[in-house]
Amino acid sequence: MAVILDDLPAKELRFHFKSGRVCLDFVATVGERWQRSFERLRSPEDLGRWFVEAGVLESPPEVTEAQLEDARALRESIYRVAKLAGQGTPERRDVEEMNRFAARAPLTPKLGPDGRSVTWGGDEPVEGALATIARDAADLVTGPLASRVRECAARDCALLFVDASRPGRRKWCWMGACGNVAKTGAYRRRQSVRSRKEP
Ligand SMILES: [Zn+2]
Repeated sequence: MAVILDDLPAKELRFHFKSGRVCLDFVATVGERWQRSFERLRSPEDLGRWFVEAGVLESPPEVTEAQLEDARALRESIYRVAKLAGQGTPERRDVEEMNRFAARAPLTPKLGPDGRSVTWGGDEPVEGALATIARDAADLVTGPLASRVRECAARDCALLFVDASRPGRRKWCWMGACGNVAKTGAYRRRQSVRSRKEP
């Protein structure tokens, strides 16, 4: 379970939308799963804000504590199922958890007056948003990109992302950050090996 860490700088609590799928962006609301495993959804308001930043909802809905607990449970099931996507059989309880949420009424589209834009909503926006995320996860792990779910190769990242590139050899969640850091690190390591060899 993710822990609530005090005194985290705001930067660490920022949400990330780099995975290529809404369900995996949701999984990334736990920071540093490989180490500190800290919670970014610390309050019901955080979840409402996440829905808006992710583009799932137009405005933040009222979220209850129970819904926040639900959302965290769904998120962990998606994490475990997605990590095994294309390579293993998930635990039955995780599959059941995902199905439980996917069975709820999803968000419905509402066409704007200009006839060209659409907003998503419903009577139960939180339930609907979680259903939408669960459905996205089911679609991902059973679709053509299932075997392209990867864990970022950067040592300090380990974010799950979808490699939708044609060659399918992407190693980092986001080249701009993790990829460059990894490359610079490799370069530095090579340089230091070289300088050690050359007295
Ligand atoms: Zn990364």
